Amino acid sequence: MKKALAFALTAVVSAGAFAQGYPAKPITFVVPFAAGGPTDTVARQLAEAMRKPLGDATIIVENAAGAGGTIAGTKVARANPDGYTLLVWHIGMASTAGLYRKLQFKALEDFEYLGMINDVPMTLIGSPKLPANTYRDFENYIRANGGKLNLAHAGLGSASHLCGLMWQSAVKLDKAMTTIAYRGTGPAMNDLIGGQVDVMCDQTTNTVAQIEAGRVKGFAVTTAKPLSNNKVLKDYPTLQEMGLKDFNLTIWHGLYAPKGTPADVTKKLNDALLVALKDPDFIKKQEALGAAVVTDKRMTPAGHKAFVADQITKLKTVIDAAGQFAD
Ligand code: ASP
Repeated sequence: MKKALAFALTAVVSAGAFAQGYPAKPITFVVPFAAGGPTDTVARQLAEAMRKPLGDATIIVENAAGAGGTIAGTKVARANPDGYTLLVWHIGMASTAGLYRKLQFKALEDFEYLGMINDVPMTLIGSPKLPANTYRDFENYIRANGGKLNLAHAGLGSASHLCGLMWQSAVKLDKAMTTIAYRGTGPAMNDLIGGQVDVMCDQTTNTVAQIEAGRVKGFAVTTAKPLSNNKVLKDYPTLQEMGLKDFNLTIWHGLYAPKGTPADVTKKLNDALLVALKDPDFIKKQEALGAAVVTDKRMTPAGHKAFVADQITKLKTVIDAAGQFAD
């Protein structure tokens, strides 16, 4: 009995001592998509904002792309739970739970939830070679040529894939576009600019600068309300305004650690995240890209987990009804 108590006390003391020195080496943010894309951008800006509150820590961003983000999910779920390997992932944490029947990790069981980061609208965009300049012309053009056109996305279960499928089903195309999977919408964007692919639905964190520079054509936003506060996107119509009843898609990002990461380490990480979410520079950068940092209870680990659990249920209903699985 005495021995057990002594052991328990040692365990508590060493966990505390561990957190005191944390972080003692670089922290890695694993991003499930290629560099240069929207999730990568969010992760890099967050790394910059969390560096200081973590005592000038070094935060490295590692791109572990593939299988709609599930390769990175598996990697972090299996990583040493020491606070040095974290995951920055979006709605894919919830959509892949319904889309993949043979996942190597369980979204709600294999991670410590550290808090959510932001909400990000999506935009329907096209190659500069498309003849259309307005949403109406774009939809008509796709209707007439759907079978000959390509839709780029970041893999089964990615946000761009989900959005592309939702849009195609909402407009009830006779001939669906051919879908082309990339390791992220960073590389897909290069091909869209070059005209090798025709259409993409992607987060504003990747599209605002390209639309503004005229390198791609923007047609509509996927949110229920127009993005009146964004100087580049304020005049783009919502898909609801264009007649797609109830179309409303917003992507969110969260921060995760492997299950079993010591509680005092996850607390340090959540504290640093909260500082980042209130950092005016981080907020400004995110807003310029159409994203809104989280300000509600989803900033807390419990609020984050409850939100993801709810999203898993909602998305699973949609996915099961569509009868489409990724494996
Ligand atoms: N935008 C991508 C997606 O469709 C991910 C990325 O490249 O960041 O999920």
